[in-house]
Amino acid sequence: MRAYTSTTLFSISYDSLYKECIALATNSHSVEMRFGAIILKDDKIIGEGWNKLVNQKKTGKLPIVMGYANHAEVSAMNDALLNGFDLKDAEIYVAGYFPQDKTLYIPDNAYFTCTHCPVYFEKYGIKEVSVPLRNGWTGMSIEDAKESSRTFYGKSQEKREIVGKTRFTLDDVF
Ligand SMILES: [Zn+2]
Repeated sequence: MRAYTSTTLFSISYDSLYKECIALATNSHSVEMRFGAIILKDDKIIGEGWNKLVNQKKTGKLPIVMGYANHAEVSAMNDALLNGFDLKDAEIYVAGYFPQDKTLYIPDNAYFTCTHCPVYFEKYGIKEVSVPLRNGWTGMSIEDAKESSRTFYGKSQEKREIVGKTRFTLDDVF
């Protein structure tokens, strides 16, 4: 465990679920963004995932396939579904980082920045999605997640990058 200095004092970095999400994200090979996702139901972890490429010919019994790449959220949902869990009323936690400079992606406001996954959350009955803010997780309903992703994508590319870019890196978490 590294010693925390004043520049690393942001409370989400102490959160074990956040650390686990970021650890899962490091499994991703994406060159743009790496995300990790954890699904909780009745306080137990029922699914874990990260954004990964999907070989269309080998998707086999994967319940959800988005295209050539599955998001962390969908990978975690597949993990839970393949293990026989019911996603109804489950909660999903998503966190990530930029691999180019290893900076953490922590929005200043509770934005859910994915327009694709809320459709699947809704279909399988996931009730809440949480994103990390510097002072902890912020949960939102799937309706609010849809609305915030619309707001997010309404911004210019430059503003979108500013939204989640931090000066904190993976070294501040591990
Ligand atoms: Zn997504």
